[in-house]
Amino acid sequence: MNILILGGGGREHALAWAVKQNPKCDRLIVAPGNAGIAEIAECARLDIENGEAVVQFAEENAVNFVIVGPEAPLAAGVADRLEEAGILAFGPSAAAARLEASKSFTKEICDAAGAPTAAYARFTMAEPAKDYIRDRGAPIVVKADGLAAGKGVIVAMDEETALAAIDDMFGGEFGAAGAEVVIEDFMTGEEASFFILSDGETLLPIGTAQDHKRVGEGDTGLNTGGMGAYSPAPVLTDEIAAKAMDEIIAPTMRVMAERGMPYKGVLYAGLMIENGQPRLVEYNVRFGDPECQVLMMRLGAQALDLMLAAAEGRLSEMQVNWADDHAMTVVMAAKGYPGAYDKGSVIGGLDALPEDSKHMVFHAGTREVDGKVTASGGRVLNVTARGGTLAEARQAAYAMVDGIDWPDGFCRRDIGWRALS
Ligand code: ATP
Repeated sequence: MNILILGGGGREHALAWAVKQNPKCDRLIVAPGNAGIAEIAECARLDIENGEAVVQFAEENAVNFVIVGPEAPLAAGVADRLEEAGILAFGPSAAAARLEASKSFTKEICDAAGAPTAAYARFTMAEPAKDYIRDRGAPIVVKADGLAAGKGVIVAMDEETALAAIDDMFGGEFGAAGAEVVIEDFMTGEEASFFILSDGETLLPIGTAQDHKRVGEGDTGLNTGGMGAYSPAPVLTDEIAAKAMDEIIAPTMRVMAERGMPYKGVLYAGLMIENGQPRLVEYNVRFGDPECQVLMMRLGAQALDLMLAAAEGRLSEMQVNWADDHAMTVVMAAKGYPGAYDKGSVIGGLDALPEDSKHMVFHAGTREVDGKVTASGGRVLNVTARGGTLAEARQAAYAMVDGIDWPDGFCRRDIGWRALS
């Protein structure tokens, strides 16, 4: 079959890498792709948030299956347009994608589902929001309702910060995303990510992961898109995962179906775990980046069969064949990230690195210039390895990092510290 993947980051490189290994895949196109993806697939230019353009491209190229990587095309209804055109798509409808696109929507669904999550209130005006904060006290969490590329959440350890966040949000800092604000109680515990496939009826867990959001070692410094991840997440034991399924995910999916928005695709539940009890922090309606890289490394070719089954409503026939191992990805970023950074520096040493089912450098922000791989973004490479233990996976990943010649890049040297300590 001919497969189109939408997106051009490390997540999409990992998806393409896994899909390409499956003999069902004849032709693989990624839009827009990047320099690493170009080594294993055709890259195409396409406005991936424009449903009509995606349908037209898919029809012209006889595409049988479209896998949507990022959230923005889903929120824009690309999966709906594909379905209307009779083209199989992996990813939820725009209505169901509100689980990520609107935090107040998610809170309301959680209420209806009885899913454990932080107590909250929602506001469309600053003064009542500030009164609520003064009444509730700090620490407290202020969230812009809409999509804000991970920047619309302020975890305020004091009241002043929370009140300032209200001014920023209603002052338009996050545009339309901040027109409504959700204020949540602060939850303590350890965070982990849980990934579940859904075909609208059947749910199938496909793995757990943990990431490191802060730029600095010891989880300090500014927030980033993620500096590394590993799978599985030891904190999400089988028992806690089962609890999360029973108390949070299954009830949410039931409410979505009852309300005429059956969820299809991958559901990424961000959980806070304390004393054996999982609580929901957030839902995302796509794979995490860089969590996808470690999940794909562990799933390999079967990832395509699983995504197809989710899109075709056949998940009840499926099971995941897990290798009993661990994977880690280390993000290499351009110096300066997440602040200002330069683009265009040349990255050497990649050709000498192993590339097999246990070692892979996924490209996140690269471009080929004159036959050389150059950095074209903040997060640039995802150096990924598998091992029998997490310590082995980590050793293999950092051995690859050490083989990369990129003086303008950096990485954290402590990915996985929590799980390994
Ligand atoms: P991203 O897309 O980057 O994951 P987001 O904008 O969707 O972020 P959330 O995941 O809701 O926002 O929040 C971002 C982070 O803020 C969480 O990963 C968590 O660390 C912290 N956080 C959010 N809500 C709470 C809460 N109620 N208590 C404590 N920490 C929280």
